[in-house]
Amino acid sequence: MAPSKVLAGARVVLPTGIVHDGRVIIDGPVIADAGAPGTRPAGVPGAVPADTPVTDLSGHWVVPGFVDIHNHGGGGASFTSGTAEDVLRGIHTHRLHGTTTVVASTVTGDMHGLAERAGMLSELAEQGDIAGIHFEGPFISPCRKGAHSEELLRDPDPADVRKLLDAARGRASMVTLAPELPGGLDSVRLLAEHGVIAAIGHTDATYEQTKAAIDAGATVATHLFNAMPGLGHRAPGPIAALLEDERITVELINDGTHLHPASLELAFHHAGSGRVAFITDAMDAAGFGDGRYMLGPLEVEVADGVARLVEGGSIAGSTLTLDRAFQRAVTVDRLPVEDVVAAISANPARLLGAYDRVGSLEPGKAADLVVLDADFALKGVMRGGEWVVDPQLG
Ligand SMILES: [Zn+2]
Repeated sequence: MAPSKVLAGARVVLPTGIVHDGRVIIDGPVIADAGAPGTRPAGVPGAVPADTPVTDLSGHWVVPGFVDIHNHGGGGASFTSGTAEDVLRGIHTHRLHGTTTVVASTVTGDMHGLAERAGMLSELAEQGDIAGIHFEGPFISPCRKGAHSEELLRDPDPADVRKLLDAARGRASMVTLAPELPGGLDSVRLLAEHGVIAAIGHTDATYEQTKAAIDAGATVATHLFNAMPGLGHRAPGPIAALLEDERITVELINDGTHLHPASLELAFHHAGSGRVAFITDAMDAAGFGDGRYMLGPLEVEVADGVARLVEGGSIAGSTLTLDRAFQRAVTVDRLPVEDVVAAISANPARLLGAYDRVGSLEPGKAADLVVLDADFALKGVMRGGEWVVDPQLG
């Protein structure tokens, strides 16, 4: 099959490093080749016929499409309460900001409502609109509830965890729970057995309890630092246990509100770029605007892009999109571009077991990519070989 598009002249970020004046060849919905120009001489299979349209991206970066494993909505739509149409609108909003793979996160609700929601979201997963479902709550600690309704929280009884997995019909990607609660470790084991990510979060666990949960099979820290005890000199708590263990990937919300830049640097320093996943934890207002919103049953006021509960003032998710997280990571946090690409695309794709299809620019993978200008502002988004944001129109 002849290639359908060629992107030329950009700095292309590959798993092996940055290629200057690189080229990405798209063949329908997949990447046919990515790398230096002229790697395939004319006449050999994979050579590009002269009439293939070439997009000149000189002065730009081409990076893999972003993968968000923790996202509650956007574009004015909630993944927890909206209709299927609303959910699709939220997904589209995040696509416009470079997120080509998204896991839909729910917030705490009653078991019946969550099971119903799981059924609806599982259909969107089957259609390929979302990569899976993340249940954040109800199995979390009342001490660290954040923007979750206290009266609907419950202990992580494995039978209840099982109910949600069944309702999700094999499309559950991750469950966030507090492992110190009764049934916590058994639930972690159950999730691990079913190939679902057990994520430690909204937790009051000690260092030792966190270690036990990791030994039981937990592999992710839900927004490290947020909704968990801080580092203490005699009580190192969950943060130390999660950062030091090679089996854990830590989620970070890099919006400048949830984390001090020094905390982000500490996480990168200890976990290394291979164990960090940037997430948005976005709510409805992401890509939409300030105003009043509902997060599950709770009312949220968004002012200057910061979402807080009307009652109590807890931070209630973010209005972040991953293009801003990327730009901030390079320009404010001064992280190397390759490390940011690892944290925003490759690592989360690996966690989802989807790295054979997405998460890097390699032949045979989905043609999901993002075009950034020299200041790391988003200029183009391609998903499955089609422009969602065309860099030539921007
Ligand atoms: Zn969340």
